[in-house]
Amino acid sequence: MFIARSLHDLRTACARLRRQADALAFVPTMGALHEGHCTLVRAGVASGAATVASIFVNPLQFGANEDLTRYPRDEAGDLAKLEAEGCALAWLPDVTTMYPPGEATLVTVSGPAERWEGEARPGHFGGVATVCAKLFGQVRPDRAYFGEKDWQQLQVVKRMAADLLLPLEIVGIETVREADGLAMSSRNRFLSMQERAKAPVLIEVLRQAADRIVAEGGAHEPVSDAAHRLAAQGFICDYFVLVDGPTMDPINRPAAEARLIVAVRLGGVRLLDNIGLM
Ligand code: AMP
Repeated sequence: MFIARSLHDLRTACARLRRQADALAFVPTMGALHEGHCTLVRAGVASGAATVASIFVNPLQFGANEDLTRYPRDEAGDLAKLEAEGCALAWLPDVTTMYPPGEATLVTVSGPAERWEGEARPGHFGGVATVCAKLFGQVRPDRAYFGEKDWQQLQVVKRMAADLLLPLEIVGIETVREADGLAMSSRNRFLSMQERAKAPVLIEVLRQAADRIVAEGGAHEPVSDAAHRLAAQGFICDYFVLVDGPTMDPINRPAAEARLIVAVRLGGVRLLDNIGLM
């Protein structure tokens, strides 16, 4: 695996890979890699593409009171995992490369970016879209892989790629979970032992609510009961809602594209999860 730390090295390595392989696959990450990230890399490699992964903790997507400084970092561990998965190239840019002095251009997002995480974290999706547009321009992949774990992020990036006519496919990959159902996340390590033991209640409640929405034909009561059950267990619920998958607009009736999404706080840790209905 080649490691690029400058734009010059990245471009040379990407040009070489493009000559060797039919396609370039790309997995953008913020590092502290776990099995969820590795699954995205594996999907790229399995598609036959030369696979590029980036590790960049993007300051632009963190709010003023958020966890940028305590975001976990483990470069050596991450590189070993990428190499073991068959990743061809790791791209590790620094902040000045991504945000050159005098920069005056940002990507503005609306539509699927407006509600839920967009309201809870103002500016977050603008930061995600901006960094993804830059990374796509640097790597010029044929496909980029994103986790369904961050469902709204996946929709925002798909919308941006379509609206900016970017010549790549955005591929969503199913959420990878711990044995007890908790969605894997770099932030799970910040849960205390008691909080970690309680966290799988989130996916249980989601699954139960999804089944009830299908059985009852509507979301109001199942969602309200689910939010109460979470509150009773000590979760602080930011939102628990049935949405139209691509647009993120709230809906009440079950539909093929419907997605049940949730964000809660447990102690100091924010947990996101989502599932489809069918
Ligand atoms: P992050 O490093 O948290 O920005 O995540 C990088 C990519 O990995 C994003 O596309 C995430 O959605 C994806 N990802 C994170 N956790 C998981 C998971 N448990 N299952 C699948 N994909 C994930």
